[in-house]
Amino acid sequence: MLKVAKFGGSSLAGAEQFRRVKEIVEADPSRMCVVVSAAGKRNKKDSKITDLLYLTHAHINYGVSHEDIFSMIEERYYGIRDELGLKYDLEAEFARLRGELNRDISVDYLVSRGEYLTARLMSEYLGFGFVDAAECVFFSYDGQIDYDKTYAAIAEKAVKSPRFVMPGFYGALPNGRIRVMTRGGSDISGAIVANALDADIYENWTDVSGILMADPKVVENPRPIKYVTYQELRELSYMGASVLHEESILPVKEKNIPLNIRNTNRPQDPGTMIMENIDENLSRSRRLITGIAGRRSFTVLTIYKKHISTDTRIIRKTLEMLEACKVEVEHITLGVDSFNVVMPTAQIRDRIYDVISDIKRELKPDRIKMDDNIALIASVGRRMVSVPGSSAKLFGALGANNINIRMIAQGSEEISIIVGVNNCDFERTIRTLYDAFMNEEESK
Ligand code: ASP
Repeated sequence: MLKVAKFGGSSLAGAEQFRRVKEIVEADPSRMCVVVSAAGKRNKKDSKITDLLYLTHAHINYGVSHEDIFSMIEERYYGIRDELGLKYDLEAEFARLRGELNRDISVDYLVSRGEYLTARLMSEYLGFGFVDAAECVFFSYDGQIDYDKTYAAIAEKAVKSPRFVMPGFYGALPNGRIRVMTRGGSDISGAIVANALDADIYENWTDVSGILMADPKVVENPRPIKYVTYQELRELSYMGASVLHEESILPVKEKNIPLNIRNTNRPQDPGTMIMENIDENLSRSRRLITGIAGRRSFTVLTIYKKHISTDTRIIRKTLEMLEACKVEVEHITLGVDSFNVVMPTAQIRDRIYDVISDIKRELKPDRIKMDDNIALIASVGRRMVSVPGSSAKLFGALGANNINIRMIAQGSEEISIIVGVNNCDFERTIRTLYDAFMNEEESK
C-alpha cells in the first residue's frame, strides 16, 4: 500500500501545523510520499508565503525596498525551524537568495522558494529524503507539463528514496529554469506523484473535512460529501465549487486512483473520497443529489427565427461572432423557432449591443431578446440518471417555493440539472434544493 499525501499551505502555516502533519504521516506507514505547498496563513490576518514572494518580486521590479517583506518571509521559516529544533541551514539559503534579489531574478524561481524551503524543513522533520521538483517535474516551453518524462523521473527518484518529501507547484523547463504552475498547483504536483508511483490513494490534506454539499455561505452547516465521482466533481467545480486545482484530476483519474480530501486539523474525519466509480453499497447513501453549486450573473440571448432548428447557419454564425469577441458560451438550448445562448455577463457586457446589431444585420432574425441578471444553479448527482422523478422533485420544490425558473439545461451525461433563475433568487434556490434533497432518508 502506498499513499501520496499532499499538504496545503494552511496545513504548514507554522510549527504547530508541522507537528500535526508529522503525526498524520507517522500514523500510517503507507504515507510514504509527501508533497507540500508553501507555508500558508496562520490566521485570517496573516499572509501566505507565496503572496509575500510575489510581492517581493513586485517591489524589486518597481525599485521599492523589499526589505520588510523579505524579512517577514525569513522570520516565518526561522520560526518554524527553531521551534521544531531543526538544523537546516536556512541562513545559507537566505544569504544566497538575498544575493540574487535584483531585477534579473526570475519571478518563478523566487516564488518557488516558498515550496522548496517548506519541503526542506519537512523532509528533515519527518526524516524523509528530499526530492527537488526541479529535477523531476518537467515542462515543455509552451508551459505544458511533459507527463511521460515527469512520471519516469519521479519513479526513478522513488527507487533511490522510497520515503520522500517533494515541493509542489513548480518544475523545470527544458533549459533547467524553474517554472511555476498556476496558483494552487501543488494539488497537481501531488496527483503527478500519485500517478508516477501507482499510488493506492492520493490524499489531499487541507483545512476542511472534505467537499461540502453546498456553499456554507449560503446553506447553514451543509453536510460533507462522502463519495463523489470525478465527473460529478467536475460539474460542481465548473459551477463554482472550488476545492481542488482542476488539472489535478487528470493524473489520478487516468489511473483510477481515489483522491481523498482530508482535514489536517481533524484527521479523524473521513473527508471526501473522489473516485471514478463508486460502489453504492460502500457509499450507503440513497440521496439523489451529491452537491449543489451555482454561479451568478449570466446573460441570455434569445434569437427567434422561423424553423431555426433546421437552419443551423444562423446558430453557427452567432457562435462565430461570440467566439470572435472571446466570449465563452456556457449553454445553448434550441427550440423549433428560437435558440438561447447563455454567457457570463462580465464577458459580454461591453459588447452586447454590437453583437446584437451584427446579428440583426447579418442574420436577419425575426426578433432578438436579451435577459441578464440570471443565475445558474446545478444540482449534481450520479443517481439521477436512473431514478425516475428526480427532476419532478427538483422542479416541484422550486414551484412550491414560488421560484420562477427562467431556463433549464441538463448537464453532460444527465448527471446534473441546471436551472436558470433571477440573480435575486440565487440563494433561495440553493437553500430550497438543499432542503428538498436532504430530506431524503439516508440509510446508516
Ligand atoms: N503556494 C502556491 C499558492 O499559494 C501553490 C499551492 O499552494 O498549491 O498558490
